[in-house]
Amino acid sequence: MDVEEIARVEALPLRYDEPNNNGKLRCVALVRIETASGAVGWGEAITGSEDASLAMKVIVDRGLAPRLIGRDPRDVEAIWSEFRESTYWSGNGGIVTFALSAIDMALWDLAARLADVPLYQLLGGKRRDRVRAASSIIFDTADLDATGRQFADLRARGYEVLKGGWGHDLSIAFGKDAKRDVAIVRTVREAVGDDAEIIVDVAVGSNWTASHAIAMARAFEPYRLYWLEDALPEGDLDGWKRLRAATATPLCTGEKSWLVPDFRRLVDTGALDVIMIDPGRAEGVTGTKKVIDMAAEARQSWNAHSWSSAINTAASLHLAAASPNVLLLELKPEPSPMQNDIVSDPIVMEGGFIAVRDAPGLGITIDEAAVRRYLFE
Ligand SMILES: [Mg+2]
Repeated sequence: MDVEEIARVEALPLRYDEPNNNGKLRCVALVRIETASGAVGWGEAITGSEDASLAMKVIVDRGLAPRLIGRDPRDVEAIWSEFRESTYWSGNGGIVTFALSAIDMALWDLAARLADVPLYQLLGGKRRDRVRAASSIIFDTADLDATGRQFADLRARGYEVLKGGWGHDLSIAFGKDAKRDVAIVRTVREAVGDDAEIIVDVAVGSNWTASHAIAMARAFEPYRLYWLEDALPEGDLDGWKRLRAATATPLCTGEKSWLVPDFRRLVDTGALDVIMIDPGRAEGVTGTKKVIDMAAEARQSWNAHSWSSAINTAASLHLAAASPNVLLLELKPEPSPMQNDIVSDPIVMEGGFIAVRDAPGLGITIDEAAVRRYLFE
């Protein structure tokens, strides 16, 4: 057996309480791939829920893992194409795409570790030493005074870009009441001052029409949003074009898409300023790089939406380092088990930025004992 052949593949569903979402239960599913020589690569799928995490594990254990054994992990894009094409019936989005995303990320980590280079070198090389950080939080819409204090505190901690979205209580989330929505944006702008950038994210289920989105975008214009996120469903391509034509407010969407062709349709509207994407969902590092390149050609930026574990964040950081058009990398401002416990060298903001990592592979050190503390069946 060639020592660089894949010898073991393991899927690890993890669950944890997310301090950045009032302690609510969240899940990810990791993939660990080991070669015969003992080299290890890690990937993540941002599965979100227990059921999706367990289903993803079945797809890996029963379907894809046996087909990886004996393969050379450096054939990462060949494996990506092969798995993508051969799962056309059950895949092309959903649980199978979660599995493919995590496997692809683990293969890139392994390929870079075997070459003893940071992942960005295999993605075209380093274009920047640091990426601008955004603090990304969920709004407490029940208490706007507390929200103002929270944003002022995050600004004081050094964040130059501050994002808030939907709400801990979805029934009164951002997006559900026009008057409250404007009050929230005003509160955030007043809390952080004029020299910070602010982003707001409309809650799922707000059901904005293009006409309402236009009215809201215009109402927000005095507060100078860095972007307005998810104002419309991703599939409302005509709505996005109408909204674009009616406001100067920058527009962003993408976190609900899975496949490269989904992103192609969004990019081709010409309506978006920023595409947001996660390699732990959107067909791995391979798929995400294709979308980033597509957006760059269309003179659109991208945002590393990464709000899950340090593994997806690290992969996003390397993609950002190698790309010409990244705007931001989102971070949870409060320590979280998946960002701070499962690695011994967490990715953190310093002075408003996140430093690019130069260690081999994803550039993080997984604490396997910590990972296994969050395992569930
Ligand atoms: Mg969002």
